Amino acid sequence: MWNIPNIAIPEEFYSSKNNKAIEECVMCGKPLLKDNAPYIIEKAFKNNPISKETELIFEYALCAECQQSTASKLSEESLKNIKMYYELYVDFEKRQAELKDIKNFKLSDWINKCIITGKPLSEYKEFQYGGMFFQNTMLLGNIPFAVGEKAINDMQELISKKTRDFLDGFKEKIIPPGVRDKVPDDFLILM
Ligand SMILES: [Zn+2]
Repeated sequence: MWNIPNIAIPEEFYSSKNNKAIEECVMCGKPLLKDNAPYIIEKAFKNNPISKETELIFEYALCAECQQSTASKLSEESLKNIKMYYELYVDFEKRQAELKDIKNFKLSDWINKCIITGKPLSEYKEFQYGGMFFQNTMLLGNIPFAVGEKAINDMQELISKKTRDFLDGFKEKIIPPGVRDKVPDDFLILM
């Protein structure tokens, strides 16, 4: 169940190319800002220890249909394991209740630390965050949240070979060839 508080898409989810809302689904190209179904955006980053800068590794938006068809290709066991992992560490009901009562929503409060470990993202070499959107607004529910590399690595252990292979293929599809080498092997889709 989504609470629709009418929050404009935060800049953290803008396209890095033009600093505007991402307009198309990465898989089918559907225009998302006019579509009548929610969509997700996910971004992955690397903290560069030398320059101290945070570098974008990849970003994409995925429409509801493509998200469903993606999820249907992951093994049931893998999905169950990942769900159990989140449920073990995250009180989603409490989050939902907090989001519902929120007067001034500030995205950074929700994506500045790993939802699993509670540690600030600045402590990790890599991290990812995701959010759910409807047209030009952000939806609040189980996401937005962020995960650091420790949780990403944990989840890697919980997925099957079949799912692993599928995700590798997905990565090939969504990540431009020029930056594919920069994408860590432990990359995981969150949603
Ligand atoms: Zn799509």
